[in-house]
Amino acid sequence: MTVALIVAAGSGERLGADRPKALVELAGRTMLGHSIDALSAARGIERIVVALPRGVHLFDLPPGVECVEGGEARSDSVRNALEAAGERDELVLVHDAARPLLEPELAERVIAALVGDPAADAAIAATPVTDTIKRAGPDGTVLETLPRSELWAVQTPQVFRRRALAGALALGAGELAGATDDASLVERAGGRVIVVPADPANLKVTTPVDLRLAELLLSERRGPAG
Ligand code: C5P
Repeated sequence: MTVALIVAAGSGERLGADRPKALVELAGRTMLGHSIDALSAARGIERIVVALPRGVHLFDLPPGVECVEGGEARSDSVRNALEAAGERDELVLVHDAARPLLEPELAERVIAALVGDPAADAAIAATPVTDTIKRAGPDGTVLETLPRSELWAVQTPQVFRRRALAGALALGAGELAGATDDASLVERAGGRVIVVPADPANLKVTTPVDLRLAELLLSERRGPAG
């Protein structure tokens, strides 16, 4: 069985909303609610632990969903949720509440990829990059053009063998603070991570434009009847 951790403790400053980003409503449901629905419907997931901002409490949670307080950095929130999850499950799925378009099928496919590759420590949803990516210095001078055929834009869900994730989260505070995803910590600890092709529609809501796009896609998915 797999336990799912949803990190929802960010403030979402770049969105400019009047509440924590995960609690912003989209197509009639909070962003967090959309992720809870998708993960509850995914086969193989029985428990969900949500990391919430300090002082936020949710009531009427569905069975199998519990909450913990998140931390200063994203990795702290993951660690708090992992501790609350305990050691019952062999696999741990981590998902950002900022990706409300998650579909159960993707969570199931990422879990299956890890189960199917015993030599891997983690499997992560990702989409091939379509833009050409360059690296530039502080003055805007281009330093390098990266080979696009090898580049993937990484999403969540990311699924880990519990020991690999726990080990990676034991890295130093500096490394944890700078990490933008958990797989990079596993890579740094020498682990093997594999990508699982995902739909670019599983987008991350960061700015007001993302919010409008996500609302459009979610309404479309629900059909004209709403
Ligand atoms: O800030 P960013 O959008 O990259 O955050 C990604 C996810 O991590 C969001 O779902 C956010 O709620 C979560 N997060 C968290 N604890 C933090 C910072 C971010 O749970 N301290």
